[in-house]
Amino acid sequence: ADSFYDECDYLLKAVLIGDSGVGKSNLLSRFARDEFRLDSKPTIGVEFAYRNIKVGDKLIKAHIWDTAGQERFRAITSSYYRGALGALLVFDITRRASFDNLKKWLHELREFGNSDMVIVLVGNKSDLGYSREVGEEEGRIFAEKEGICFMETSALENLNVEEAFLQMITKIHEITS
Ligand code: GDP
Ligand code: MG
Repeated sequence: ADSFYDECDYLLKAVLIGDSGVGKSNLLSRFARDEFRLDSKPTIGVEFAYRNIKVGDKLIKAHIWDTAGQERFRAITSSYYRGALGALLVFDITRRASFDNLKKWLHELREFGNSDMVIVLVGNKSDLGYSREVGEEEGRIFAEKEGICFMETSALENLNVEEAFLQMITKIHEITS
């Protein structure tokens, strides 16, 4: 089964980043365990999840780190980013402020992260189209300007979640192999 001690060709670390409440923890639980929580409370301590993924003929163990609510106080330490090859930078399409803060998060990623880190911008909560505050085109244009990938997801409806993580992992694999 999918256990930590399985044989794998390599390990990679990736981080989740973005404002509190955008859905980072639910994206991760959806990807790692196919679970969603309506009442998700901020976690205590750094959370990890991992999943084995086959890319080409390689078995990759992806360790994904989730914040433990420190993002609320902008108190994420550099150790969170250390060694990370990828990042999912998440905003909430129904909350303009979470989109406006992307610049700050990118700045932090570029300050503390690897210079060649693969960043995928994720506009989450696409199921809430009726209260959308950020157009899909805006997300796309922002990502193009920053030279990063972009995808809209719904952790609730399990839309594009797998694709967003896989896009990041596949890109990392391309760069490192
Ligand atoms: P985090 O603070 O970024 O880790 O965000 P959470 O994963 O804790 O989610 C914050 C809130 O948004 C919770 O009430 C979730 O149930 C809700 N949520 C997360 N993802 C989605 C989504 O795709 N659609 C909807 N409608 N709600 C979501
Ligand atoms: Mg969380």
